[in-house]
Amino acid sequence: MLFYSIFLLTMYRVLLYYKYVKIDNAKFLAEEHLEFCKSLNLRGRILITPEGINGTCSGKFNRTEKYIEHMRLDPRFKDLWFKIDEVDGHVFKKMHVRYKDELVTFRFPEKIDPNVISGVHLDPKDWLEKMREDDVIILDGRTDYEYDLGHFRNAIRPPVKSFREFPEWVEKEFSLYKDKKILTYCTGGVRCEKLSGYLLKKGFSEVYQLNGGIVNYSKDPEVKGKLFDGKCYVFDGRISIPVNFADEYTLTGRCLHCGTPTDRYVNCANIDCHKQHFECEKCEEKWARSCSEECMQAPRHEILQNT
Ligand SMILES: [Zn+2]
Ligand SMILES: [Zn+2]
Repeated sequence: MLFYSIFLLTMYRVLLYYKYVKIDNAKFLAEEHLEFCKSLNLRGRILITPEGINGTCSGKFNRTEKYIEHMRLDPRFKDLWFKIDEVDGHVFKKMHVRYKDELVTFRFPEKIDPNVISGVHLDPKDWLEKMREDDVIILDGRTDYEYDLGHFRNAIRPPVKSFREFPEWVEKEFSLYKDKKILTYCTGGVRCEKLSGYLLKKGFSEVYQLNGGIVNYSKDPEVKGKLFDGKCYVFDGRISIPVNFADEYTLTGRCLHCGTPTDRYVNCANIDCHKQHFECEKCEEKWARSCSEECMQAPRHEILQNT
């Protein structure tokens, strides 16, 4: 028991959560929340908006526990669903709590309230079954660089660099699937709440979403991340997390320089570029984490210092 208590004191966790719920005085809450998080020594990024909350933060076990308790005292957040990962230390450098108008930014004139319109939520087991049905279309609800690191087998890769580009792409390229069963998924579920609602509004007839996203899917003891290839991109210091504990590991990324399968995502070492790209270990010797010849010659190269 004593050992376990000591273990808990040294252990860190990452929390990931969201909820679409009306928040009055969101601006004020954001300020107050930042102070509270700092008092617990948490680090991460939390967004507070009039339509809800979306956050991820890391901290010591007991501090994250306190955070959860505190949140559940608020009637708006009493059923807040926390997805929890154990980690060795903080995975963020700072604590940010920001106020914004929307939880996820979407270039669409009408407002989409997931509490009014959203796709059917499927838990991991039902999702896996649904994926195996004929005539389903699996749509990745994330950006192209997240997809490239790992995704559900046979999922469609939207060529979007940010979430707000989805409506335009759907309109142009994806509308032909209006009569199909659409399965959408994202990291933790917050984006699909809106994306699936948007698809329904656009006249898609049958839309499902993965409840709790890839993060929850990978934790299901029965499903164990089945049919997910590669790793899941995360927006913290870990960059990626493993998902599939059932099948043999498949690499989905390809080295930018030589095409070898790899899951090494690096930022271009040219400070003025910083483009995230795949680079295998062997190519790093030659390219020094440059995304192009031009970046390799750049004056502000972190490794080569071409001055
Ligand atoms: Zn290579
Ligand atoms: Zn570059």
